[in-house]
Amino acid sequence: MIPATRKQKNDPAPATVPEWQRELGTAIRDAGELRSMLGLPQDATEDAGFPVRVPRGYVARMRQGDPGDPLLAQVLPSAAEAREVPGFGPDPVGDRAAMIRPGVLHKYHGRVLLVTTGACGIHCRYCFRREFPYADANPRPDDWQAAIDYIAGDDSIEEVILSGGDPLSLSDRKLADLVERIEAVPHVATLRIHTRLPVVLPERVDHALSDWLHGTRLAKIVVLHANHGNEIDACVGTAVEHLRATGAMVLNQTVLLRGVNDDVDAMVELSRRLFAAGVLPYYLHMLDPVRGAAQFEIGSEEARRLMAAVAARLPGYLVPRLVVEQAGRPGKTPLAHDWSGCRDGVTMPTLDQAGGPATP
Ligand SMILES: *Cc1c(COP(=O)(O)O)cnc(C)c1O
Ligand code: SF4
Repeated sequence: MIPATRKQKNDPAPATVPEWQRELGTAIRDAGELRSMLGLPQDATEDAGFPVRVPRGYVARMRQGDPGDPLLAQVLPSAAEAREVPGFGPDPVGDRAAMIRPGVLHKYHGRVLLVTTGACGIHCRYCFRREFPYADANPRPDDWQAAIDYIAGDDSIEEVILSGGDPLSLSDRKLADLVERIEAVPHVATLRIHTRLPVVLPERVDHALSDWLHGTRLAKIVVLHANHGNEIDACVGTAVEHLRATGAMVLNQTVLLRGVNDDVDAMVELSRRLFAAGVLPYYLHMLDPVRGAAQFEIGSEEARRLMAAVAARLPGYLVPRLVVEQAGRPGKTPLAHDWSGCRDGVTMPTLDQAGGPATP
């Protein structure tokens, strides 16, 4: 065992390590430890092929003693992950085929997605990239030049999306450098950041991040990834405030997950809490059929009925668009609400009661 003094000596000077990185360093990496923190019995059948990783602050938002907690369900490995299910494979959305340069995905007109890193602040069991070949995809900082050259060579590209992994798991120095090189391309107008870190580790949105985000000439959109209302606490609210203070628009995308948010009340509450925090819902994604995640699947018929019931209770701007990603399509594919099964107690007036047909 290393004595405490020796360990301290080997640690980098505390002043140079941002608080969020220290927090990340203390994340839970063991299913057994997670279970004991929540007062749950141990389970030896859990499969941890994809390693456990959960920041402590996220664990603090889970309910004690509840094995069905919707936050816990997203991060705790289960025996079901080992099941082979037909249709669930290693590359469900055709990312390997769409990779034009190392780390550059150009599937849709006008926007490219950069896989900036394989690292994340949390490991979500349903992640479509749990099987992604990060080692091949992850450009080292000096390789970003190939991505920049690609963007500079195609003036139809107006928007660059930083994704991953989680792009905000990179240092602010690296991010500031990358953004500086992106904004030097004259035809790029918009910077988008797809990140779950402000939700799972809100300390990530600190002064250093605000500085480079505020400083860019590019229009800015941050798309968060929250799946349940219990994820949105006051600290997340503060992180969103800081993001919006940089001039960024803040949206959210959600994955529809059995046992997490496949319920009208949970969806309605998520939208309400997002709005209260200053965030609008953007997409509700159908699960990508990645190997090991079949236990989270909701069929499209069920999803379309669920979203009809949600839409019956919320203003349109709080209803995320239900979409599915299909390899080879020029954009996400929307799925229409199925109003026929709407059993939510909302009765529509007949044309007579409403005073005759309105002009379209
Ligand atoms: C989802 C996705 C985008 C963004 O699509 P929007 O509909 O603009 O949100 C861009 N590139 C890739 C490769 C994607 O998978
Ligand atoms: S990429 Fe997003 S969904 Fe996947 S593990 Fe990382 S944070 Fe979770």
